[in-house]
This record gives sequence, C-alpha cells and structure tokens, in this order.
Amino acid sequence: MEAAAKTLALVAHDRMKEALADWADANSAALAAHRLFCTGTTGAVLQKRCPGLSITRLASGPHGGDQQIGALIVEGRIDAVVFFIDPLSPMPHDVDIKALLRLAVVYDVPIALSRRTADLFVAAGLLAV
Ligand code: PGA
Repeated sequence: MEAAAKTLALVAHDRMKEALADWADANSAALAAHRLFCTGTTGAVLQKRCPGLSITRLASGPHGGDQQIGALIVEGRIDAVVFFIDPLSPMPHDVDIKALLRLAVVYDVPIALSRRTADLFVAAGLLAV
C-alpha cells in the first residue's frame, strides 16, 4: 500500500477497548502520522491511553457512531478500519455494526476485526509514511 498519511477508523466494543488501547499504544508513534476517527467511547479510552494522538470522536456506537463511520466510508474518506468486535456479547446496535462491516466490504476498505489482523496491517506497511 502506498506510503502516505491515511485516515483510519478505530472502534472497539466495551470488552475489547483495553485490547485496542494496547494495540494503539504499541503503535502510537506510527498512528500519530495519520488522521484518526473513533466512535465516542473508544475515542475517549484511546485519547486517555495515548494523549499524543489526535483523534476525531464521533457519536458513541449505539448512538450512531458506527453509521457515521459507514457514511465516511461511502464518501471515500476512510482508508482502513480497525474494529475490535466482541463476538460473545449481544449488542443493541447489532444492525449498525453489520451495516458498517457490509460497507467496508462493498467499498473494499481493509478492516481488521482482531489484534492479529491489526498487526498484519502494520506488518503490511499500512501505517508506514
Ligand atoms: P463506542 O462505540 O466506542 O462509543 O463504545 C463502539 C461500538 O459499540 O460500536
């Protein structure tokens, strides 16, 4: 993938937020070069863990944040999504999550749903500038 500043969406469900914060912390120097959009609570957690990152916080997921990220995908403004989903908990906004996943596939935007796939993004040079 071409080396330039990118726009990334970072989202994690509640039980996965610490895992995403760990990943962001481990990659904070690389992430600092990119534009970052997060759903509301995820953004607050990441900002606290990684104060050096500039994060645009959208609405909380259950209040439409996933749909906002979906809209950004439709507008061609998202280069990659890291979305640490919780596969073991029911979600009130399950339809919004499905819509976001679907749009990422429709628009062929790379999306990592777990730590190991997010690490593969890094290994592939996606965060390189
Ligand atoms: P949150 O939303 O970052 O506001 O918790 C994430 C989600 O549940 O989709």
